Amino acid sequence: MSARILVVDDNPLNVKLLAAKLAKDYYVVSTAENGVAALRLMAEDPPDIVLLDVMMPEMDGFETCKQMKADPATKHIPVVMVTALSDTTDRVKGLEAGADDFLTKPINDTALMARVRSLLRLKMVMDEWRLREATAAEFAPRAETDERPLAGTRCLLLEDNAKDSGNIANILRAAAFVVQPITTVAEALSVARSGNIDMALVSLDLQGEDGLQVCAQLRAHEATRTLPILLIANDEEISKVALGLDLGASDYILRPVESSELIARTRTQMRQKYHYDRLRSNYEQRLALALVDPLTGAFNRRYLEAHMPKMLARYRTSRKPVSVLSLDIDFFKRVNDNHGHAAGDSVLKEFVSRMAMNLRPLDLVVRLGGEEFAVIMPEIDLRTALAVGERLREAVAEKPFALASHSAGLAITTSIGVASVRTDGDDTLDAVLERADAALYSAKESGRNKVVSATTKAENA
Ligand code: GH3
Ligand code: MG
Ligand code: MG
Repeated sequence: MSARILVVDDNPLNVKLLAAKLAKDYYVVSTAENGVAALRLMAEDPPDIVLLDVMMPEMDGFETCKQMKADPATKHIPVVMVTALSDTTDRVKGLEAGADDFLTKPINDTALMARVRSLLRLKMVMDEWRLREATAAEFAPRAETDERPLAGTRCLLLEDNAKDSGNIANILRAAAFVVQPITTVAEALSVARSGNIDMALVSLDLQGEDGLQVCAQLRAHEATRTLPILLIANDEEISKVALGLDLGASDYILRPVESSELIARTRTQMRQKYHYDRLRSNYEQRLALALVDPLTGAFNRRYLEAHMPKMLARYRTSRKPVSVLSLDIDFFKRVNDNHGHAAGDSVLKEFVSRMAMNLRPLDLVVRLGGEEFAVIMPEIDLRTALAVGERLREAVAEKPFALASHSAGLAITTSIGVASVRTDGDDTLDAVLERADAALYSAKESGRNKVVSATTKAENA
């Protein structure tokens, strides 16, 4: 996940140290030595995340944060306050100024990466959401709040130490969360799978059990794959935390659990989940029937044409990749000819639902017409897009499509062309779709049920 991070600190040594750590993980880093310079940079070239020192001359971090959060153009950009070790008043002040999370000096690598990754996930879904809102507003202006209050958030709390469990539950309940305390891994998994919780808090310090089991199991199952998981760890368990984050935990918090920190971290996870769920929900399908294909629920060409120029402009500024798949069902005419038009329709519906199951809610599925579809994938490069294309091809070919009139079902395949937006020049939607279409054409030519990328084709030619 590449992203741009703005580091704001008046101490050049701190800036250098942080920038080096971030650059090592391929983040693109810009720096500012005071609040005023930071605000100017935010306006000129908005970053994805800001790491903001508290103690700075002229304008301190709190005031800088307040101003960032007061500006509609930058208020959605996550801010991490860098505070002195365990200074609780600073944290509370930071939260009041609108900060999204904290890091304490000296900055620990695991903490830095956990915070950055977790807030980037939030930023990514919020960006996509904002973009879709902008497109939707062109067709049907609406007023809707951006955020849902945290009250009522349902948390599973896996902690077998009664005292710790009670303390954490009290902090969460004071923020009007609904807490379900649990003491065994098995019970935690069964509650999580019931689908009635919004988030899991998992202790890494269980008697005779391993909390990481929960991470691995939740991530391995479709229903719980995106459930936010917050690890609770002791100082000395930091390497276990790193392993947990690799397994898919969303973030962590160290003991003794401090209330403003727990609430900030929970809030980020819930905001991310909220926007993710909204992207996934059928809200957009209800939004304006004119933008959605009524048969399959995929977006239509009209929506694509309204949405894509905005998206391309944004990705050109942020220099992030966008890839496009062009799909066409193989020999679809035969389905209609042999089984009737209604059978064809049901194949189209299942085709789109198999695609959606294998894509992120960020990805846009568009029915271009007939049995021709496009998928627009933000922040996906050509190589990954090829892999996604391959996954979709398999998802279609691997098992027959259900048909009411035909108990054995129907074997269906699809051909797929892949292309990426060129971020350097002034690539247009039509040009990218054309390249994806050309690749699709060679997939058909070379025998169908294939995935071909625009560059492989160009290289071979
Ligand atoms: P190829 O592998 O070359 O793509 O062959 P094909 O048969 O899929 O290609 P062709 O484009 O010739 O056929 C597309 C068919 O899709 C023709 C049309 O009747 C059918 N079709 C288009 N829209 C719909 C629809 O909404 N419902 C149904 N049932 N069929 C549709
Ligand atoms: Mg076809
Ligand atoms: Mg066709």
